[in-house]
Amino acid sequence: MRMVATSTSLRYFFKPLGIQALADIFPYHRIFEDGMKTESLCLHAGYEPQNGEPRVVPITQSTTFRYESTAAVARLFDLEDAGFFYTRLGNPTVDAVERKIAALEGGVGALCTSSGQAASMLALLNIAQSGDHVVSASSIYGGTFNLFAVTLKKLGIEFTFVDQNASDAELEKAFRPNTRAVFGETLTNPSMDVLDIERFARLAHRHRLPLLVDSTFATPVLCRPFEYGADIVIHSTTKYMDGHALQMGGVIVDSGNFDWTSGKFPEFTEPDPSYHGLVYTTAFGKAAYIVKARVQLMRDMGCCQSPQGAFYINQGLETLPLRMERHCRNAEKAASFLQEHSKVASVNYPRLPDNANKALADKYLPDGCSGVISFSLKGGREAGVRFIDSLKMISLEVHVADIRTCVLHPASSTHRQLTDEQLHDAGITPGTIRLSVGLEHIDDILADLAQALEQA
Ligand code: PLP
Repeated sequence: MRMVATSTSLRYFFKPLGIQALADIFPYHRIFEDGMKTESLCLHAGYEPQNGEPRVVPITQSTTFRYESTAAVARLFDLEDAGFFYTRLGNPTVDAVERKIAALEGGVGALCTSSGQAASMLALLNIAQSGDHVVSASSIYGGTFNLFAVTLKKLGIEFTFVDQNASDAELEKAFRPNTRAVFGETLTNPSMDVLDIERFARLAHRHRLPLLVDSTFATPVLCRPFEYGADIVIHSTTKYMDGHALQMGGVIVDSGNFDWTSGKFPEFTEPDPSYHGLVYTTAFGKAAYIVKARVQLMRDMGCCQSPQGAFYINQGLETLPLRMERHCRNAEKAASFLQEHSKVASVNYPRLPDNANKALADKYLPDGCSGVISFSLKGGREAGVRFIDSLKMISLEVHVADIRTCVLHPASSTHRQLTDEQLHDAGITPGTIRLSVGLEHIDDILADLAQALEQA
């Protein structure tokens, strides 16, 4: 079986080790041709079966791998050779998905994790430690907010939450000498604002800091944040990438573009005692960030994706472009319908002509803004509850980005732990309803919305 490398990932991986021909070191890999379009990468990147091998990426349901000698295993542990030796650190099925997602985002490498939360956690812990500080947009997923404001704070990492639409001068005030990263979401959950990625990248880079973008709702089908200067992209693959509500997962993708050698990130440029003094930037060049996330943090924290889980995610990825197209088209129709309804107070969907984020959406998400809409009813929270409880086909779920249309009331669920002020900063009112438009026929979606609105 051959696992296909993305255009650049393994070149960067091994060049610093002085190894020219990848085949010499890792016969399973070959360089994937550049230039394929997203639809084709979704089907072909990451895995290319050889003569007589399974057409579908096989599930390598094995925690471990056999080697001929202790010396060979020692070289793997010293990161001198590449290869699979323990599924927590790498597995052929998971690897195929990582290569596919790296190719889709245009990165040098990716690391799958057990959930989106694990991806956000590792992505930041790979950069920041106790005593460090991070600037984050305040309009982010409630779980990410808790991770930052509660759990990472307990580990000594401080966060300043900013209004992503504030002026540059206002945003500048959030930066400190110990700031180590900037974080935001391409499309914010649930408020559905659009991050001005280029502006945030410029601000971050002015301070020689990386911009980390959670691009879960956009997926690489709708936006590729690296093209606008983002350095690291995170996804909850639980959402559109899987898309069928089958499998938890997350992924971190490294653009390979950030310079970690400025002196602000000694963990990248000084010897790692846990690998006999290996220096990541020297040994792995452009892939330093993603290799460190895997060999140091995944090794120690263990929040890995399973082979079976990766198989499901791969299934989802194969049809992602088709699904995103329909999600967007259905959501545009549903957003227009809601906007015109007499019981609806406000609708936030960035493709609506009068939406405050329309210009940003035109720039960053020209093909659509996903299936997620946030809206509120004139009757406030009580009307929202009546509306949700009256839906028939559309279900109430703690989920979003599913093929089936679903709704959620963020203030009483995903964002329940936030104070009123934090809710306001996240763009949520007590009456906000998050609608995740699925792939049913639009007539059926609108009919269910209409009859539930009658009851609201
Ligand atoms: N990021 C965003 C934008 C999300 O919507 C979510 C979950 O809803 C997460 C991260 C966390 O992902 P997971 O639920 O896979 O841990």
